[in-house]
Amino acid sequence: MQYLRPSNLHEAIRLKNETGYTLLAGGTDIYPGLENGTRPAGLIDISGLPELSGPVRSDEYWWTIPAMTTWSALANMTLPRQFDVVKEAAAKIGGRQIQNKGTIGGNICNASPAADGVTALMALDSRVTVVGREGSREMTLESFVLGNRHTSLKKDEILLSIGVPAAQHRHSSVFKKLGSRRYLVISLVMVGVYVALDDVRQLSRVGICVGSCGPRSVRLKAAEERLLGMQLDEAAEFSLKPQELAPLSPISDIRATASFRLAMARTLVDEGIRDVVGSLIDD
Ligand SMILES: Cc1cc2nc3c(=O)[nH]c(=O)nc-3n(C[C@H](O)[C@H](O)[C@H](O)COP(=O)(O)OP(=O)(O)OC[C@H]3O[C@@H](n4cnc5c(N)ncnc54)[C@H](O)[C@@H]3O)c2cc1C
Repeated sequence: MQYLRPSNLHEAIRLKNETGYTLLAGGTDIYPGLENGTRPAGLIDISGLPELSGPVRSDEYWWTIPAMTTWSALANMTLPRQFDVVKEAAAKIGGRQIQNKGTIGGNICNASPAADGVTALMALDSRVTVVGREGSREMTLESFVLGNRHTSLKKDEILLSIGVPAAQHRHSSVFKKLGSRRYLVISLVMVGVYVALDDVRQLSRVGICVGSCGPRSVRLKAAEERLLGMQLDEAAEFSLKPQELAPLSPISDIRATASFRLAMARTLVDEGIRDVVGSLIDD
C-alpha cells in the first residue's frame, strides 16, 4: 500500500485527484477497516496539514472548527453552552485513545449512520467547507452527508472545516446516547437537541437530530416546527407525536430491533427536550 504525506493543502488536493487514494486523518475508522478486508491502494496522510488544524475560531456569527480537531480537544475546550451537545458526544466517542486520535472531519466524512458527531453537529445547523482544485464550496452538513458511507465530497475535495452559527440569545443543548453498555459502544440510538430563545423567552431556534435510525442522521423537522414559538412552560410539557418520527427508518440488526430503536428515539427526544427546556427555566 502506498503512503503519501503532503506538506500543504494544495499538494494534498493534487495527490487526491491524481491517485484517488484514501485520506488518512486520525485513522480510527480506516485502520479497523483494513483488518476487515477493505484495503485501499494508498493513503494520503493529511494529519500534518496546518490548514486543517489550529484553534477553534469565532466571530459574531460563526464558530469555525478545523477538520483535524480531535474529540479530546473539543471535550476539553471552554465553549458556550450551545456546544454541550458536541462536547457530550465527544466524551462518549470510543475511549480515551480514540478520542485523542479521532477527528471531527473523519467522523463526518466516514458518514457512518452511527456517527455521534454528525448527529450532534446537525442539531446545531452546522455547515461544512470543502476545498478542491476549483476552490472551496460551502453547504449544510445535512446536504453533505448523503447516506451510509456516502457524502457529496468530489474526487479532488477535502473537508476543511465545520461552521456552527453562533447562538445570539439564551440557549441550551444536550446529547443522549443509548448503547448496550455505558462506554466504548456504538450507539443503538443517539439524539442531539438544541434550543435557543428570543428576547421574549419564546423558542426561536430548535434542532432535534436522531442518529442510528436510518442510513444517516436526520432532523425531526415537524417536531421542531411545533416547538417553535412556544413559551418555556408549554415546551416543558412537549411530547413527540408518532407521526413526527416519520423521517426515521431504523433497521433490525444484531444490536437492536427497528421497533426498539424507534421507541428509544422517542424517549430520548422527549427527555432531551425536557432537559434543555428545564435548564433554561432554571437559569
Ligand atoms: C474502538 C473504536 C470506538 C469508536 N467509537 C465511536 C463512537 O462511539 N462514536 C462514533 O461516532 N465513532 C466511533 N468510532 C469511529 C471513529 O473513531 C470516529 O468516527 C472518528 O471521529 C474518525 O476520525 P478519524 O480522524 O480517525 O478518521 P479516519 O479514520 O482517518 O478517516 C475516516 C474517513 O474520513 C475520511 N476523511 C478524514 N478526514 C477527512 C477530511 N478532512 N476530508 C475528507 N475526508 C476525510 C477518510 O478518508 C476516511 O474515509 C470508534 C472507532 C473505534 C476504533
